[in-house]
Parts: sequence; C-alpha cells; structure tokens
Amino acid sequence: MSRFIEIVEVGPRDGLQNEKLSLPVEEKVGLIRRLEAAGARRIEAVSFVNPNRVPQMAGAEEIMAALAPELDRSRIGLVLNMRGWERCVAAQCDEANVVVCATDGFGVRNQGATSAQQLDVLGAICERRALEGGPPVTATISVAFGCPFDGEVSEDQVVTIARAAALFGVAEIAIADTIGVADPWTVRKRIEAVREACPDTRLRLHFHDTRNTGLANAFASVEAGADVLDASVGGLGGCPFAPNATGNIGTEDLVYMLERAGFETGYDLDAMIAIGREISERLGKAPASSLARAGKFPA
Ligand code: ZN
Repeated sequence: MSRFIEIVEVGPRDGLQNEKLSLPVEEKVGLIRRLEAAGARRIEAVSFVNPNRVPQMAGAEEIMAALAPELDRSRIGLVLNMRGWERCVAAQCDEANVVVCATDGFGVRNQGATSAQQLDVLGAICERRALEGGPPVTATISVAFGCPFDGEVSEDQVVTIARAAALFGVAEIAIADTIGVADPWTVRKRIEAVREACPDTRLRLHFHDTRNTGLANAFASVEAGADVLDASVGGLGGCPFAPNATGNIGTEDLVYMLERAGFETGYDLDAMIAIGREISERLGKAPASSLARAGKFPA
C-alpha cells in the first residue's frame, strides 16, 4: 500500500477567520459537512476566541451542536487560553488545538500573552485534562519560521517550545509558518531538529502560501518524513500582516500533487475542486488554489 499523507482541513477556521466576509452558522456547518463528505477526516472546525475580537469565528458552540458526532471524524477546536479550553470541552470537540506563539511580539499582539505565558497555559490545560478528562490536545507553534514583529525565529526557539509541549504530553505538535515566510530547506532542518528533541510526538506542518513557497514546503515536509499537513480548501484565507496575501496552501493543490505522485490522501479531488470554487465565489473572490483555476490532469 502506498504511503498515506493525512491532510487536516483548516478552511473553516484558518481560512474563514482571515476572510473579510463572515458566514452565518448554517453556512459554516454546510461547508464542514461538504468537506467531510469529500474526505476530510480531521477538520479544524471552530475557534474558541472572543467573537467580539474575531467576528468571523462567532457561533463555535452552535456549529459543534449542529454536527452529529461521527466515529471516524475529528472536529478540532482552536484554543488560545483556559477559557477556550473550557468552551472546547463543553462543546464536545474531538480535539483541542492549543496555540503557542514562538515570539513575544506576535503572542502579545495576537493573544495578549508572551510565548512563555502561552506555554504555561498549554501546561495548565494538559494538567486539567489529566485530572478531569477532555479531548486530545495538540499544540501548534505559530510564527515558527518568522514573525512580522520580531523578525527571524531561530530553530532553538521552536525546539524549546516543542520539547516543553512534548513533556506536557500533547498528542501532536504542529510547526506553523503563520505568515508564509518559510523555505523548503529550512523546513527540513526544523523538522529534523524538532523530531530529534521529541522523537515520540507526531509532527504536523502548517503552511501559508503568502510568498508562493507553500507547496515546496509541503514537499520538503513529506520528504523529511512528516505524515500530517494542514491545508485549506480553495486556499481560503489571507494574512492580516501581509496585504493581498493568499491563505493556507490549497487542499486541492496538495491532494493533486500528492496523489499524482502515488500517495493516498482519502480526499475526492473533484469534490474538493468544486467546493473550492463555490466557497471562493461565495466570499466574492477568485479561488486562490491552482486546481480551482486550472482543473486536474488527466481530466
Ligand atoms: Zn495559519
């Protein structure tokens, strides 16, 4: 059997969060259902941020309530603090993805907390989960390749956070290029460094295509042995710190590249292309993914 690469669909969260238009709850639920029907088995569905700060992410509880539990589906909730964890548990998410920024500059502006404070929150969440139960916790190290405020981010900064997260017992660590500045060679080195520091923790990679290096970075990740990648249908999203930037790497582009090379992803490419085109139109923009523009080959 060929190698399976797991793609976590993050369009409903990372994608929609960075779009200008806010979709009503029913449409977000409809999008999640269609993505799941097209093969998404892990999907970042909601974010437990304050809806006054991020109106696009309003209705997390309603969205989770509308999605009937399914054994083979994981609906992930993004969590930034203890209040978010409590909401995530109450809403019965299947996973909590806790963000720890690699830099203080981004952390303080984005989450109102330094990197060390966010790491403390992650530790406190893991401790509470051990006592009271709750969904598996994954940690995302954001701005792990560069920060719009603090500039370059060193491998050491990332490895230090990853090592601490692994000690807390997280199920998975994601290394995230939040602003799309990574290159494939650095990606490989960072994967190797984190793997050496935390050999028993599953790794996930998260790329934005802001500077057109997204798929190259995904390729480098697969070559370096990573089996889990985030992507967003239609390449949805933007970047609040880079005007006119595209969002995450497009799920259909990643599925195409991998399946053309013989990997399995479990996604229905035709269905994903259709969803990417429709959701982009709904958001009033041309699809950012290449497959939505060019179609697949062979047709
Ligand atoms: Zn992101």
